[in-house]
Amino acid sequence: MHGVRRDRARRARLREGARLSVDYVCARSLEEALNALALDGTPAHVLAGGTDLMVELRTGRTKPARVVDVWKLAELRGVREEAGGLRLGALTTCAELARDPCVAKAASALVAVARDVGAEQIQARATLGGNLGTASPAGDLCVVLVALGARVRLRSLRGVRELDAEAFLCGYRSTLRERDELIESILIPARPAGERQLWRKLGTRRAQSISKVALAVCMAFDGGRVSAVRAAAGAVGPRILRLAKLEQELMGARVDAALARGAGAASARLDVAPIDDVRSTGDYRRHALARMLATAIRELSEGPVCRS
Ligand SMILES: Cc1cc2nc3c(=O)[nH]c(=O)nc-3n(C[C@H](O)[C@H](O)[C@H](O)COP(=O)(O)OP(=O)(O)OC[C@H]3O[C@@H](n4cnc5c(N)ncnc54)[C@H](O)[C@@H]3O)c2cc1C
Repeated sequence: MHGVRRDRARRARLREGARLSVDYVCARSLEEALNALALDGTPAHVLAGGTDLMVELRTGRTKPARVVDVWKLAELRGVREEAGGLRLGALTTCAELARDPCVAKAASALVAVARDVGAEQIQARATLGGNLGTASPAGDLCVVLVALGARVRLRSLRGVRELDAEAFLCGYRSTLRERDELIESILIPARPAGERQLWRKLGTRRAQSISKVALAVCMAFDGGRVSAVRAAAGAVGPRILRLAKLEQELMGARVDAALARGAGAASARLDVAPIDDVRSTGDYRRHALARMLATAIRELSEGPVCRS
């Protein structure tokens, strides 16, 4: 009974907030959600935590004919270890990421980034699937997912497919998700032995700010040399960018301060394409990224670090 009242209240808020007539479907099962997304070709939007979508609806930037609320779907929740790595339900919130021991063990950068998203109220609602769905070039969770080589599992009535997060986030606020697909879960592949992970965010203030530059680097060492490296940056291009030049400079190398500075500078010159906008200038972003990378690489070569 209470559930029904909560659904009605949520639907009313959604209509009032958006000031438009939306066909609201509160899905009770995965099948119901998939059917609603596939129904009659009508443009539908998935509603998870609503921290991005509600803003879009209120400002009128997004005008879907149908909203499919998946918040109650147990099938999209949970964190579990499996043969290939760590499987995270699309509805895993930042608060859950920040306190889950399996996440801390496999992907400490995810714990660190989750603590840097918005404030506690946002962290209680903001989901991994929602961050991927929005595909903002400044999507903090996406930066870490790309650095970790995460795989995105999409489900529709037609079946299931899995894509690399890097490929899935194909452009400015754009993804390879088809209209009838739901982001079901995310796989964090098993990590190289002894890997160290680092997350850094540069914003106007320490908390509650959209990134000017966001950075995630994962590195492993063998006999003092870099044996594995993946790095990604946000807010320095139209989408989350993999730092290919940086990876190339570091792979197999013995890290010292000069190499860290040189690789950071080369990456900031060649790997990214920052623009001037209300938050920063492209020049500042490039300069900041070079400095952040030099420090990050040095710190990673010295021992395990992670927090922002
Ligand atoms: C005050 C405030 C502060 C914020 N701070 C940060 C920050 O520091 N860093 C940051 O990265 N973001 C921040 N955000 C943005 C937002 O919180 C995140 O992007 C969040 O992860 C979105 O998740 P959600 O569940 O709320 O998504 P929703 O708003 O529910 O959905 C977002 C988009 O993803 C789609 N979607 C959601 N789930 C699925 C799914 N399972 N399958 C298919 N499509 C789906 C929706 O249709 C929609 O297009 C902030 C937002 C606010 C309001």
